[in-house]
Amino acid sequence: MRGPPAGPRVLLRRLREIMAEPISAQDRLDKIVRQIASNMVAEVCSAYVLRSDGVLELYATEGLKREAVHNASLRVGQGLVGTIAEEARTLNLPNAQAHPAFQYLPETGEEIYNSFLGVPILRAGRSLGVLVVQNKAHRTYYDEEVEALQTVAMVLAEMIAVGELEGLARPGTSLDLKRSIRLTGLGLCDGVGLGHVVLHEPRVVVTALIGEDAGQESERLDAAIAGLRLSVDDMLQRGDIGDEGEHRDVLEAYRMFAHDRGWVRRMHEAIANGLTAEAAVEKVQSDTRARLLQRQIDPVLRDRLHDFDDLANRLLRVLLNKPHGPSGADLPRDAIIVARNMGAAELLDYDRERVRALVLEEGGPTSHVTIVARALGIATVGRAEDVVALVENGDAIIVDGSTGEVHLRPSAELEGAYAEKVRFRARRQEQYRLLRDKPAVTRDGERVTLSMNAGLVVDLPHLHESGADGIGLFRTELQFMIAAKMPKIGEQAALYGAVLDAADGRPVTFRTLDIGGDKVLPYMRTAQEENPAMGWRAIRLGLDRPGLLRTQIRALLQAAAERELRIMLPMVTELAEVRKTRELIEREIAHLRRHGHKEPAKLHIGVMVEVPSLLFQLDGLAAVADFISVGSNDLLQFMTATDRGNTLVATRFDPLSRHFLRALKTIVASANAAGVPVTLCGEMAGSPLSAMALIGIGYRSLSMSAAAIGPVKAMVLALDTGKLGVLFDRLLDAPNADDGLRSALAGFAEAEGVPV
Ligand code: PEP
Ligand code: MG
Repeated sequence: MRGPPAGPRVLLRRLREIMAEPISAQDRLDKIVRQIASNMVAEVCSAYVLRSDGVLELYATEGLKREAVHNASLRVGQGLVGTIAEEARTLNLPNAQAHPAFQYLPETGEEIYNSFLGVPILRAGRSLGVLVVQNKAHRTYYDEEVEALQTVAMVLAEMIAVGELEGLARPGTSLDLKRSIRLTGLGLCDGVGLGHVVLHEPRVVVTALIGEDAGQESERLDAAIAGLRLSVDDMLQRGDIGDEGEHRDVLEAYRMFAHDRGWVRRMHEAIANGLTAEAAVEKVQSDTRARLLQRQIDPVLRDRLHDFDDLANRLLRVLLNKPHGPSGADLPRDAIIVARNMGAAELLDYDRERVRALVLEEGGPTSHVTIVARALGIATVGRAEDVVALVENGDAIIVDGSTGEVHLRPSAELEGAYAEKVRFRARRQEQYRLLRDKPAVTRDGERVTLSMNAGLVVDLPHLHESGADGIGLFRTELQFMIAAKMPKIGEQAALYGAVLDAADGRPVTFRTLDIGGDKVLPYMRTAQEENPAMGWRAIRLGLDRPGLLRTQIRALLQAAAERELRIMLPMVTELAEVRKTRELIEREIAHLRRHGHKEPAKLHIGVMVEVPSLLFQLDGLAAVADFISVGSNDLLQFMTATDRGNTLVATRFDPLSRHFLRALKTIVASANAAGVPVTLCGEMAGSPLSAMALIGIGYRSLSMSAAAIGPVKAMVLALDTGKLGVLFDRLLDAPNADDGLRSALAGFAEAEGVPV
């Protein structure tokens, strides 16, 4: 088939000259549309730009009436142009007027044109405008012409993104790129953050769009793809997963997609049409993003597109020789980190002093990055759909971790309102501080022990600030997760000693390593598991690899010389595991003694109840455990068979449901009967409403994030457990209580003036 009269490459060469001319933005735009029209032998070429009010305004035209420029407009979704912007897809029509969406704009004089080619002006998948050519004759535009027009649209997107067209906007209007957007995700960590976006994986900025030598650009692309494939293979082979937060299955998907012929072909086509290798990668990536932003897409395809998106980022980095990883160095003082997802260790790489909030597209309430964010007191919102595509580095943003709201590029009024909210919260924090030294005693005289969960040195100052009664759960694995290599015994002992020093006599419960599952150690080789949460983790791994557990026990015993030591075992399934661990600990004590070391003054060995099998061994448990701690995060996960890290199901079942509360009640009742102390240390302990429910079923010891102690204590001080008990007896016995439990509890709190 005969190609188009003048090639797209000629058009792009001319375009580069126009971009370099020292002329005004309007003149440049006018010249561009004129050039396109002449190159494509089209009678009309027009550029529409999307305003923040959802209107596409005609910014330049060759062929339509001049006076229509900055006067003619369509709403998104209206007419052909509005449809293209809405759906972010190209329309190539030999008979435009026959299309159901066609709408005639009298001010333009376009009634005489039949064929129509319109492409969206895309940036990171978002429509910023539409570029159109029209002809009187009925014709279908060649694929090369479509590609060329899409390429010019990329150049226009760049002009819009750098703000070059800002000055042309009619007074009182602004461009869509700066539009305020409100997203509602899931509030994961309480707190409000006002600041500026820092993309965790900063977008690589492509400045050289138009290539000079297609052959050379193709070679660059091929070399980069080969490099990308090698690096993915290499990571898989080394078993070096976790290095950059990836899991093995993600890398496997990368490997598959890195060999995807369609993807590679589309990039080569874009180069053949005149783009540089990096612009070609970006163009194909932008098309992928545009599809992602279409709502109706199914989750499997969405994941696939996300993988391509990640891979394109990696490829851009290889091409432009930019290292992979967080932006780090130039963090603003009010950074709000935005990411699809990240590992707990990656969050710790940021300077805590500068991070005001965290926004994730994924992330669940009990995922580990959330737990770390909570420990650090960082306001966090998860499940903020498509947020990464909707923001640019440096955009103003507000994050409300209590409601799950995220405001992108907020108005001045909204910023003012939130600044007021921040001040209000600061006043409330001040009130909590006043409660710090007050014991948590209910109105009817019941003392409730409120301890905090910790795992890092950064947590220690919170012990004093929050007025916690002690550390109810010290997650020792966090030290291992953030280290580049296995911490030595001396390093472990130093941390445990520092924790005991900071606690200054208050009890500290050290949990032995809970690794495996989603807590991977980058430097430890483990086999690939189909179901890691139910796999070789925690105490199972500890007993099978006694070297690791023994070293940790030894470090704990040394750090606690002549002090009280509380050790807790995670993921216990059968009592034999407790006995075996006890034997191991006793051997270590004997070893200490033999070598003349000082022993702990007192040793308590506790068991976490987080595997449902223990619910049926509670009698025996009381005999082998000095204390019990309920890990409600895992217990709920296993009781309801819902993966706590899977955003599709993590919040599906409410812990405030009859079945779960009944199970929790059985545990506390059995422990009380046997005289074994019992605590609950899962995330639900930190929510005042859930904590109230736990007190209602008999718990008198809870362990939570430091930030939750103030609000939970305020709740306890206002509570009458006698009245709550009456309500509970009724609720837990009612056959259909599940649906109404949460609201019944909230109603009780409201009527009784209990702040939850
Ligand atoms: C739990 O499972 O509830 C718990 C406290 O442990 P983690 O969240 O560390 O698994
Ligand atoms: Mg657990």
